[in-house]
Amino acid sequence: MAAEQEPVYLIVAENATTCRNILARGGCDRCALRHCAPPWALYDAAPATLRGALRSALDVPQNEGCSLCLGALAETTARAVAHASSEHAGLGAARGWALRVAAPPSWAVRDAAAGGTTHSVKDALRRVVAADLDRLSPPSNSEAAPPAPCYFDLAFDGAPDDVAALPARLRPKPPKQKGRGKRPRRAPEPVPAARVAAALEALDADERAALASILTTSPPVRVDVKCAREPVYLAFRYRKLGRRTPQSSWVVDGRVKGVGSVEEYVCKAAKAVADCDGVKFAASGREDWDVRMLGNGRPAYAELQNCRKWSSTDVVGDFAREVAKASNGVVEALHVEIADKARADAVNASAETKVKTYACVVWFSADRSAEDARRVSASAPLAVQQRTPVRVMHSRSLATREKRVLRLKLTMTNPRFGVLELDTSAGMYIKEFVHGDLGRTEPSLASLAGCDADILQLDVLDVHDDVAAASSSS
Ligand SMILES: [Zn+2]
Repeated sequence: MAAEQEPVYLIVAENATTCRNILARGGCDRCALRHCAPPWALYDAAPATLRGALRSALDVPQNEGCSLCLGALAETTARAVAHASSEHAGLGAARGWALRVAAPPSWAVRDAAAGGTTHSVKDALRRVVAADLDRLSPPSNSEAAPPAPCYFDLAFDGAPDDVAALPARLRPKPPKQKGRGKRPRRAPEPVPAARVAAALEALDADERAALASILTTSPPVRVDVKCAREPVYLAFRYRKLGRRTPQSSWVVDGRVKGVGSVEEYVCKAAKAVADCDGVKFAASGREDWDVRMLGNGRPAYAELQNCRKWSSTDVVGDFAREVAKASNGVVEALHVEIADKARADAVNASAETKVKTYACVVWFSADRSAEDARRVSASAPLAVQQRTPVRVMHSRSLATREKRVLRLKLTMTNPRFGVLELDTSAGMYIKEFVHGDLGRTEPSLASLAGCDADILQLDVLDVHDDVAAASSSS
């Protein structure tokens, strides 16, 4: 189509008076467009196209700088964003990003002085920066980019204190500083945007004009850009092959108990495979430090905060190797995948719902026969009333919880010792189910067997979890 019929030419021609007014008071081309409140897509126009449209509609030269946005809408902002993103390998525009803008109150004050209906600098910035970025740095498609959206936090420094130029009766006060006189003097708190907006609403026409005559200087603002990514997740299942390692670091009376922790090894491994600010570990439920986690492992994930890039192309394989290395082979990470928040949430939720299989070595205070063992095994499935165990009373609320034993298989290895295998509902305390916890768990293996019983060793054989199946089928 001919240039004159392009939408940006049409909107400028329709709003020639507004554009002339904005340019005459020292506004930039984009602020002139902004004061036409155009359809959002028109902000995508290249600066040269917009200039052409303004030149053809009116004979007013382009201004250096801008007395309205103070230069924020110039291409320099997009260049600063591109620079910040270059420090994060692969901006990954296709993965989504957003601007978070700390707007200086000057923008609102200056727009109000100019009058009319307009789009805010902040809203225009979002469109303009996106369009400029597409022109300046076409999206790279780095395969190794973490699949998380990111935020660019834009702060603009150097705007004058235009709030002070408001008429005295409307001038909003900054919030009172707490602890005045006790601390070293700090920069005054900014006036909240809502108070500035209320004051601007109350301006009359004369006050607007007076304001406009004062606010003619245009000191440029400096933009400071920080890039932050949404967390990236590494989902996996862990096996723990030793009986001295707690799931998370465990301190009793100021002393660390056990050797390392699953959490410690996982965090160390995650930091080895990713350049990120921090790592959080979470798992679907937990086992005691002296309990091995075998079978298919327990679902868990590492949450990587503000991950900039992976340090290798085989993140999944390297993470598993780093977990094994950090733990000296005590902890294994299986089925490692790069995952999203929904997957992490599913791991958190699954702790309450999943059936577990345990195996334990048990001792009886009186001789038990193979026939006794068959009788005990035949009592499942059964409901178990479990009052809060004595050993966790300090950390859990007192309650009686009903749990289910779905399967029991007791095999005597000699008259006093046996191996008990059982499937239970989530959250059942196995040690207490074996010895009865002074009658607080009923029935128990002891009550079923008709003599005292105790537990010597416990392993988690499996966490029956459908997280892996659910995600692969979706
Ligand atoms: Zn401007």
